[in-house]
Amino acid sequence: MAEQVDLYLDFDGVININGTRSSYLDASYGKAAGWKIEWRKGVIDYINSLPENVNLVWLTTWEMNNLAETELVPLLGITRPTVTISRALAGSSPYHEWWKARALNAWRELEGREDRKFIWIDDDLESSFHDIPEALLSEGLGLLMCPDWRSGITEEFMKEIDKFLEEVRV
Ligand SMILES: [Mg+2]
Repeated sequence: MAEQVDLYLDFDGVININGTRSSYLDASYGKAAGWKIEWRKGVIDYINSLPENVNLVWLTTWEMNNLAETELVPLLGITRPTVTISRALAGSSPYHEWWKARALNAWRELEGREDRKFIWIDDDLESSFHDIPEALLSEGLGLLMCPDWRSGITEEFMKEIDKFLEEVRV
């Protein structure tokens, strides 16, 4: 059986590229919780086609009221199971600290997934890098990807993800 891999996925600036005046031929448009959303069908097709050992985990402010699962999944047409990391897991982190890094670390501990390989895509990863706990930065453990919020996930990212997954499988 293939080793399990988690894909931690932000939404805005990663899948949602609304307001960027993109010219993607596969651009799709909709509304979720009153917000305009623009995404690429090709990105969703790619996510849907990932191997079964890849677990889709939302790590986004759309965790609020479970919006990622109730609004985004049906709108985008995501066909695989998803779970969501709750912001509450960040605890009473100081306001200036990045809640996602703390919540993710706490969640992995809670789930007993400290050693699980992962891919983490968030357009704030670079600017918040100093807040990421050591445990998440072990050599070879995770692939951290920080797309430009105007383009989100691109074909180059998909290639890099495929390469990482291939290495995990070996
Ligand atoms: Mg974002």
